[in-house]
Amino acid sequence: MKKKVLITGGSGFIGSHLCERLLNEGNEIICVDNFFTGSKRNIIHLLDNPYFEVIRHDITFPLYVEVDEIYNLACPASPIHYQWDPVQTTKTSIHGAINMLGLAKRLKVKILQASTSEVYGNPAVHPQKEDYWGNVNPIGVRSCYDEGKRCAETLFFDYFREHKLNIKVVRIFNTYGPHMHPNDGRVVSNFIMQSLKNEPITIYGDGSQTRSFCYVDDLVDGMIKMMNSPNDFVGPVNLGNTKEISILELAEIIIDMVGSKSKITYNTLPKDDPVRRKPDISLAKKHLTWQTIVSLEEGLENTINYFRDLLNSNT
Ligand code: NAD
Ligand code: UDP
Repeated sequence: MKKKVLITGGSGFIGSHLCERLLNEGNEIICVDNFFTGSKRNIIHLLDNPYFEVIRHDITFPLYVEVDEIYNLACPASPIHYQWDPVQTTKTSIHGAINMLGLAKRLKVKILQASTSEVYGNPAVHPQKEDYWGNVNPIGVRSCYDEGKRCAETLFFDYFREHKLNIKVVRIFNTYGPHMHPNDGRVVSNFIMQSLKNEPITIYGDGSQTRSFCYVDDLVDGMIKMMNSPNDFVGPVNLGNTKEISILELAEIIIDMVGSKSKITYNTLPKDDPVRRKPDISLAKKHLTWQTIVSLEEGLENTINYFRDLLNSNT
């Protein structure tokens, strides 16, 4: 059955893939975005579709639309962007969540929150399971994002307990793919852009810190499975790739795949940069029969091709 789906942050990296996928599945999409980090380029190919509608709107202000389902993704996700105006980041997470939860409550519809592995902070438990409460600095430079997202989860669960709202919370681990912002400072986009331009690869610290990288198609699949799961499964559920690699290994793989002449440089490690991160996805496997299927090499190849085309189109 055709559903009318609201996607906040729909012109961003992940949101644009979600818009496309749900549109292709026969749904009607309302994409709401203030274009802070999102781009029309990410959704331009959808604009001709009569079932795709874009509203320029900041979710820290109330929104009145009629929909059947809500995916709440609006929030800058890269450290450079979310630290640019930290107060606005917190407002987006918290006022934005309150506005979207209020909308879901009025309409009596399901709402999914794009939470993050950052709720685990610099984790003292490895790999991270959903019942781990995290190790988060409340007053640091990453706190606007980490604590904002933690409080948004609190709000979701309070609306669930107090108002019996139908909620879904996913905790997304590092995700990459086409439509990432080329200058958002995240590691995959940085290393690919630097490699393509034969510029120095900027490793922060000694590169021994680890992450687990999930290709965007796998993530979108998990988000939709979560939205469609039985009502009594509300999460939070981890979504991410379980293959953990060091940042140095990632740099070497990307340099090799691009065939780049770039040399590795070592720079200062940002404050509160987590040392290790890898999801435990047993819950997603059990409740959603979900796991990642795209290999790092395949995902990186698609992403490298995307950035190469982007560079060529700008020259
Ligand atoms: P992104 O920055 O590409 O997308 C975020 C979108 O939200 C952008 O289009 C931006 O313009 C929009 N936005 C920001 N503030 C807004 C506001 N106040 N009102 C309306 N729109 C607003 O980031 P992304 O990587 O696509 O992340 C999407 C969501 O997934 C975010 O909530 C993020 O926290 C979460 N997430 C992403 C990752 C990842 O690795 N990419 C990891 C964990 C969680
Ligand atoms: N990183 C790096 N060089 C870069 C960008 C990032 O070494 O040019 C490191 C960063 O310090 C972190 C990891 O890569 O340890 C992942 O960073 P990203 O910003 O992509 O995501 P997050 O820190 O939120 O996991």
